[in-house]
Amino acid sequence: MPLAPLNPNAFANSPLDRAAHHRRDPDWIASALDHPDAQLCLFQNALPFADEAGVVWLAAHARGIFPNVKAPVIFLGLDKQGAPHFALEAPDRFDLAGTPLEGLGEFADMRGLAARARADDIAILGAARALFEWHRKNGFCANCAEPTRVEEAGWRRKCDACASEHYPRVDPVVIMLPVKGDRCALGRQARFPPRFHSALAGFIEPGESIEEAVARETLEEAGLRVTHVRYHSTQPWPFPHSLMIGAIAEVENDDIQIDPFELDSARWFTRAEVRDMLAGRHPDAFCPPPFAIAHQLIKTWAEG
Ligand SMILES: [Zn+2]
Repeated sequence: MPLAPLNPNAFANSPLDRAAHHRRDPDWIASALDHPDAQLCLFQNALPFADEAGVVWLAAHARGIFPNVKAPVIFLGLDKQGAPHFALEAPDRFDLAGTPLEGLGEFADMRGLAARARADDIAILGAARALFEWHRKNGFCANCAEPTRVEEAGWRRKCDACASEHYPRVDPVVIMLPVKGDRCALGRQARFPPRFHSALAGFIEPGESIEEAVARETLEEAGLRVTHVRYHSTQPWPFPHSLMIGAIAEVENDDIQIDPFELDSARWFTRAEVRDMLAGRHPDAFCPPPFAIAHQLIKTWAEG
């Protein structure tokens, strides 16, 4: 039985029970690390250790290869058989050559891995990557600037100087497909590859609801006025630690006016054109791959 209702997005649907009540129990964590079936995933500079087939899981005792590692061993949860899963980030200067890991894999780009690895593994590693990104930026207390230390098996940092507790951040982002009748609007940012078009997106600001953020961003980026917001799904997005909140946004006007600071261009596509994009046969446009929520938004709308 799944742990939650299934969702169409990569990085969601983790097969692990986070078993968060164990995080505060160092003795339990120590014995879990000695569990014969304990699994360890390895990162370096936010890149997961993988081979051609997908994620390479190591026995937990492989952490002994990194005796002086500063980063925490993160407890990620228990699989259905009760096997504890952990994540470790190798030091920046660690070189695979000459170690027991040589030949087993490489530190790989996570987006590339997302396209080929098992969905379960991608969901687990997405959580680990988001946590490592947060740890990297939170070595010092935001309240008093003194060093912080890791607690709760990687899920909290504590400042001993001022007693502040710091928890991993998740940044909410709205991502929306503006639609009017039989057309949807897609935009291009200057950094996108040629012909690549995607949904519009932006961070939710303090004091905003999802609906307000969808309306504001759609108006700011493309000059389109939203009349109705339909929730689609969410996607944990570990670049670095966002939650993408996907919506279909009905708009009342079709005169696109882009904000040149946000977008390079934006244009309308008919449903038939979007189906061609999804099938990879549109002559001058393509859209994000299936592991991106933008693809799922576009696909849902294109399929009516
Ligand atoms: Zn402090």
